[in-house]
Amino acid sequence: MTQLDRAALALDQLPFDNRFTALLPADPDPSNRRRQVEHAAYSRAAPTPVAAPRTVAWSPEVAELLGLDEATCTSDDFAQVFAGNRIPSGADPFAACYGGHQFGNWAGQLGDGRAIALGEVVDRDGRHQTLQLKGAGPTPYSRTADGRAVLRSSIREFLCSEAMHHLGVPTTRALSLVATGEAVVRDVMYDGNPEPEPGAVVCRVAPSFTRFGTFQLPASRGDTDLLRQLVDVTIRTDFPHLEPGDTAALFREVCERTADLVVHWMRVGFVHGVLNTDNLSILGLTIDYGPYGWLEDFDPGWTPNTTDAGTRRYRYGQQPQVAHWNLLQLANAFAPLLDDHEPLQAGLDAYGERYHAGFQAMFAERLGWASWQEGDDERVQALFTALQSTEVDQVIFFRHLARVPVAAGADDAALLTPLADAWYAPDDVAGAVADGFVAWLRSWGERVRDGGVADDAERRRRMDAVNPRFVLRNYLAQEAIDSAEAGDPGLVLELLDVLRHPYDDQPGRDRFAARRPEWARHRVGCSMLSCSS
Ligand code: AMP
Ligand code: MG
Repeated sequence: MTQLDRAALALDQLPFDNRFTALLPADPDPSNRRRQVEHAAYSRAAPTPVAAPRTVAWSPEVAELLGLDEATCTSDDFAQVFAGNRIPSGADPFAACYGGHQFGNWAGQLGDGRAIALGEVVDRDGRHQTLQLKGAGPTPYSRTADGRAVLRSSIREFLCSEAMHHLGVPTTRALSLVATGEAVVRDVMYDGNPEPEPGAVVCRVAPSFTRFGTFQLPASRGDTDLLRQLVDVTIRTDFPHLEPGDTAALFREVCERTADLVVHWMRVGFVHGVLNTDNLSILGLTIDYGPYGWLEDFDPGWTPNTTDAGTRRYRYGQQPQVAHWNLLQLANAFAPLLDDHEPLQAGLDAYGERYHAGFQAMFAERLGWASWQEGDDERVQALFTALQSTEVDQVIFFRHLARVPVAAGADDAALLTPLADAWYAPDDVAGAVADGFVAWLRSWGERVRDGGVADDAERRRRMDAVNPRFVLRNYLAQEAIDSAEAGDPGLVLELLDVLRHPYDDQPGRDRFAARRPEWARHRVGCSMLSCSS
C-alpha cells in the first residue's frame, strides 16, 4: 500500500457520529439556491471543489486530538479533504441556520454562508468535535456573497484560534489551513478598490458551533417547536450534566461560561471586534475570528474594526457590557419556553457577579496578590489611570512587572528600569508621568508585602503563568500574511510554534515579544481591520 492510500484510509476512518444532523430537522430543499430556511436547523450543502489545494499549515495538537498522524496531515489527501474536494466517508456536510443582531440591530436570517461542517468526529477523549470548513463555497445562506475566504483572514483565524487555546482562553480550534490555488476578489478597505487575493479554507474544530443567534432565529419567527428542539438537543449533546429540557439551567450556564470567557479576553488583551449575537458561542468559546485585534497600548476605547469606528460598540473596555447585552437577547429568545422568566433574570445577574468575581481573581493573580482585599479596586483603577498617562504596551508591562522589586527601599530607577521596553514614547516617561508610575509601583510593592506572594521567585512564577510573553501581535500576523502571500509560509509556521508556549520565556525569540514598531502604527491589517475576509 502506498503512503497516499494509507493516508486516505486514515481520513476515511475518522469516527464520524453526526448528532446535529441526526437529531435536528433538516431543510428538505437540497439545492444551494439562496433562500429563507424555516422549520429547519440546517441545510445539507456540499463544498465546492477548488483548483489546487495545498496545505499551508496544520495544528499538531488538534491533529493529535483527532488521532491524525503527521503522515496523514502532510498527505495530498489531507489537502483534498480539508479544502472540501473530497468528502471523507461518514461525513454529512451541512450549513447551519441562524440569525443574529449585528451592531445592535436585528438582522434576521444569517446562517453559515461560507462555512460547511463535514460532521462530528469522536476525538481521543471521547468528545464530539465538529469539523467545519470555512471558505468552502456557497450555501443557501450565502446571500449576495461568494462563500469563499481569503488567505489573509484564514491565516488570522488559524493562528489566533491556536494562540488563544495555548493562552488558556476557551476557543474554537483550527486543524488546518489549506490554500485553494484560486483567487478571491475583495475590497479590503471598502473604498472601491477590489483586488484578487489568494483563497484559503480553514478547518475549524469545536464541540459545537451553535450560536446565540441559532436560538434567536426560530424565536423571532414564533417557531417554538424548533426552538424547543434546539434547546433539548443542545442540552443532550453539549450540556449532558443538566436535566433534559431545563432551559433555565442552560441559560445560567451560558451566562457563567460567557463571563469566564470575557474575563480571559480582558486578561490577554483580546478585542473580538464583531460581538454580534451570531458570533457568540453557546459553549462560551471565542468564535468567528474576523477583524479582531490585540491591545497594544492600554486603551480601553480601542476597537480594531473599521466598521465599528463610529460608535466603537465593540471596543476593548466595553466587551463585558456587550456580552451582557447579547445574553439579554438570548434570554429573550429562551423566554417563550418558560412560564416564569425570573430564572432568566437570575442568569443575567449571575453573569455580572461571576464577571466581577472573575475579574478580581484574575487581577489578583496578575499582580502577585494572594487574594483580593479591601482597597484593591482603587489600586487597579489607579493602575489603569497610570497606564493611560502615556502609551504603554500592556503585554510587556504586565509581564515585566514580575521583575520589578517590591522591597521598601527600591529607588525610582530600580522600579522603572524593568519596564523600559513597555514605553512606546520613552521620552514621555519623565516628570509627572514617571512620578505616577513610581507612586503606583511603590503602592503595589507595599500591597505585595501586605498579603501578596512574598517569595520573589514564586511570585514571578505565578505572575508569569497568567501574564503572557507572547500574543499574536497585530503586526506579526500581518508580517506572516505578507510573506505567505509572497509564497513563503515560514513565518506562519514559526508564529504557530512560538504561540504554542506563550507563557515561556523562549530565549532567542525576543523579536516576537517586542512592542509594535512605528511602521505598523497606521498600517491596514496592523491597527485597522475591516470585515472584508
Ligand atoms: P461574520 O461577520 O463573519 O460573522 O458574517 C456574518 C454573516 O455573513 C454570516 O452569515 C456569514 O456566513 C456571512 N458571510 C460572511 N462572509 C461571507 C462570504 N464571503 N460568503 C458568504 N457568506 C458570508
Ligand atoms: Mg459570524
